[in-house]
Amino acid sequence: MEAIPYGKQHITEEDLAIVIETLKSPYLTQGPKIKEFEDNFAKYIGAKYAVALANGTAALHLCAMALGVKEGDKVITTPITFAASANCVRYCGGEVVFADIDPDTYLIDIDSVKELLEKSPKGTYTGIIPVDFAGRAVNLEEFRKLADEYNLWIIEDACHSPGGYFTDSTGKQQKCGNGNFADLAIFSFHPVKHIASGEGGMITTNDEKLYQILLQLRTHGIVKSDNLYVNSIEFAGGTDKYPGWYMEMQTLGYNYRITDFQAALGDSQLKRADEGLVRRREIAARYFDAFKDFAPIKGQSGVVEGHAYHLYVIEAEDRLGLYNYLREQKIFAQIHYIPCHLMPYYRGLGWKEGDKPKAEAYYRHCISLPMYPTLTEAEQAYVIEKIKQYYP
Ligand SMILES: *Cc1c(COP(=O)(O)O)cnc(C)c1O
Repeated sequence: MEAIPYGKQHITEEDLAIVIETLKSPYLTQGPKIKEFEDNFAKYIGAKYAVALANGTAALHLCAMALGVKEGDKVITTPITFAASANCVRYCGGEVVFADIDPDTYLIDIDSVKELLEKSPKGTYTGIIPVDFAGRAVNLEEFRKLADEYNLWIIEDACHSPGGYFTDSTGKQQKCGNGNFADLAIFSFHPVKHIASGEGGMITTNDEKLYQILLQLRTHGIVKSDNLYVNSIEFAGGTDKYPGWYMEMQTLGYNYRITDFQAALGDSQLKRADEGLVRRREIAARYFDAFKDFAPIKGQSGVVEGHAYHLYVIEAEDRLGLYNYLREQKIFAQIHYIPCHLMPYYRGLGWKEGDKPKAEAYYRHCISLPMYPTLTEAEQAYVIEKIKQYYP
């Protein structure tokens, strides 16, 4: 049996062909593949606009910038996430306030968010960053109501959940990142995620104004459009109109662009996204069946509708022992996540053990089992067998 990681990309001959074709085209970057990928992704997610970027972290940073996060702003997120969900607030000088999680879903607990909001005068907080952790969709309809009450924006970190959804109060499926409730949503195309482009990210939104700001920030804050210029035609060197070369850098942006060949790879992978989701849900169902009556493994609530299963997390007795035993068997399970507020950087900002008891309790037992579309039945059976063998 070859080594079995917790997550793995799947590159097909078709993917390779389109990447090679793009490499041979006149454009390595800023070519037509980027817009194609954006349009197809927006359609898949059900949002109006999509902006492709260098990675998911850049996507978070630009979201925070576009929403105007600044020093003195307080933003709420979950500690059970990859650090980038919180760090984007810090890039802009804002303060991160961690809520606790719901121990049944592992998602940010709306009651814990309410508690924070009610404890402070209105206007203390400016935004919330919920994370569709492991691929399970946050109920953003509820969060939108709360956010409107407190005049907050929402950035949905949907890195784990392309294709995932929740069912709203009218019975409608609401796809992660569709922009119906969150102001902005972000995705990552890192190889362990559903859609891989090497490095890559995407922002989706239904807000045209934010969309325009994001396009500018992605390329140094430069605009290239006659009706947006600030300087005069005479200054620009024209007579009755702006000359062809003219452009203006109007705000401080970045180079956060994705390349054309990465976009081509992402777009090719997007075509198989639904197939991948079907496989992930099958794998989840098998894990659930295998462990539902097995006492040392907990945290199982059945296969959840709309869950995109980026991760399959269990809560295990003697987690360290199990982790090490599985490694000896070449099964590389992983831990998601070490609570973000207890990273030394955030401890340095005042956070300490005991601050978020539910997230900390979750961390003591969580372990993510191998979960990716090309995991074979035999490999999964081996993983299950080894876990059962570990407990006498
Ligand atoms: C992967 C990930 C990110 C960051 O994406 P990169 O493309 O690696 O920068 C942010 N948030 C979450 C929840 C992630 O899983």
